[in-house]
Amino acid sequence: MPGDLLGDLPGDLLIGGDWVSRVTDGRVFEVTDPATGEVVATLPDGGAAETQAAIDAADAVRQSWAGTTALERSALLRDAAQRMRADTERLARLITLEQGKPLSESRGEVAYAASFFDWFAEESRRVMGSMVPAPRRDKRILVSKRPVGITAAITPWNFPAAAIARKLAAALAAGCPMIVKPSELTPLTALALGRVFEDAGLPAGVLSVVVGSDPAAVAGPLMSDFRVRAVSFTGSRPVGELLMRQAAPSMKRITLELGGQAPFIVFPDADITAAADGAVASKMRNMGQTCVCANRFYVHEHVAGEFQEALAERLRSMPVGNGFDDGVQIGPLINQDAVEKVDAHVDDALRGGATLVLEGGRDAGSSGHFYRPVVLSGVTESMRVVQEETFGPVSPIMTFQTEDEVVRRANATEFGLAAYCYTRDLSRVFRLVDRLEFGILGINDGVVSTAEGPFGGVKGSGFGREGGTVGIDEFVDSVYVSIGNV
Ligand code: NAD
Repeated sequence: MPGDLLGDLPGDLLIGGDWVSRVTDGRVFEVTDPATGEVVATLPDGGAAETQAAIDAADAVRQSWAGTTALERSALLRDAAQRMRADTERLARLITLEQGKPLSESRGEVAYAASFFDWFAEESRRVMGSMVPAPRRDKRILVSKRPVGITAAITPWNFPAAAIARKLAAALAAGCPMIVKPSELTPLTALALGRVFEDAGLPAGVLSVVVGSDPAAVAGPLMSDFRVRAVSFTGSRPVGELLMRQAAPSMKRITLELGGQAPFIVFPDADITAAADGAVASKMRNMGQTCVCANRFYVHEHVAGEFQEALAERLRSMPVGNGFDDGVQIGPLINQDAVEKVDAHVDDALRGGATLVLEGGRDAGSSGHFYRPVVLSGVTESMRVVQEETFGPVSPIMTFQTEDEVVRRANATEFGLAAYCYTRDLSRVFRLVDRLEFGILGINDGVVSTAEGPFGGVKGSGFGREGGTVGIDEFVDSVYVSIGNV
């Protein structure tokens, strides 16, 4: 364990209110720092038995937690948010240590994660039923809202705190226990969040954090046990598909926040300075490893030269290095596989005739997984860098001539999470809102995530929403009550 950051954790896995330092057969797994490749923690390697114990513990407290008042849950969520903010520096260092993003971004992630606990502290008090006009004089119809029961969160490594907060805040606000299965690459922040809630007075068993090196083993009981009524997953499309199939036999609700393939469209009437700034914000957050990162740029042919120069100029001046170092804006990618994938996409584009506007690439000789930003022009739609989610600091630029054409090309993907457009034409904005098949649109805005907005995708990017006034609906059932003879 990294002593200064995790030193006050009483154990390693949080299961039903107990901190467990050893699994039955004593297996362990290692967590590494992507900036150095060094092992920073060794954790007990949780599996199905630990998850099953967490489900049993959640079952034991399910009804008492559902019976707390909204005001009580609201106060607890606020307290947790406050504790996170007060502990920003330690939590941010933990995120940078296991995930790599620059410390300034990690601090932003802590604030962003805390904002979900604040938001759902408020929303918990507004889960309202209704009285519906009945078809007969002697009847009354009520609709009551009830927590779905035990819930689970399966989360990725790219936002070790925020990906959990978006799910956990809504589930707790609704009155549901939750079992969190974080990515095996970034379990430390998840465990630290477990401690935040323990300190805030969350009853034992309402939250468990089960980590282990084998995702299928840890997640198995979450998917098969009938008592788990809702699973919220953020991650890749193939795993999302698998979990959807696994949810079927026990008829669980499932929320899927899957990958994206975001188009970033720059129209000829755009403010090019704002578009280049927005492109950097969208593309480079977390080194290009977010589901809403711009993945393919469509720039009108009249402004393409100006835009790509402005983008390259900004990226050229962004320092690459260890996220703990002062001034670093681009940290390492999560692991060597990620570097290989990004590099393969760039190679494929260059072999297909693309040209380098900014020559970045891998950092030979470093033990960290660093990759300097690359800007490509002359890209075509058939290239991997356009067809697949690159998840790295590569900006492939294509040109277009008409609005109809670019809408068609932007929509020509199975994914539908985020899309970005830069234009000063208000009529065009409304046309795009109607025609772009994505769950999130950034219009003259490269930073679209906020607790107040309903975040989620359409098509192959999944379904369900996190945040906003609808985020809590994922964890609430409507109960229809028909009262006769009144
Ligand atoms: P991933 O699908 O490999 O892993 C996500 C989670 O699923 C992890 O906790 C992992 O341990 C678990 N998992 C993996 N295999 C499993 C299995 N067989 N059974 C049960 N659980 C399993 O994704 P990743 O590499 O961690 O994250 C990157 C992906 O996540 C990208 O595609 C990205 O676009 C997507 N993502 C989406 C959003 C969103 O909100 N839509 C946000 C962030 C990331």
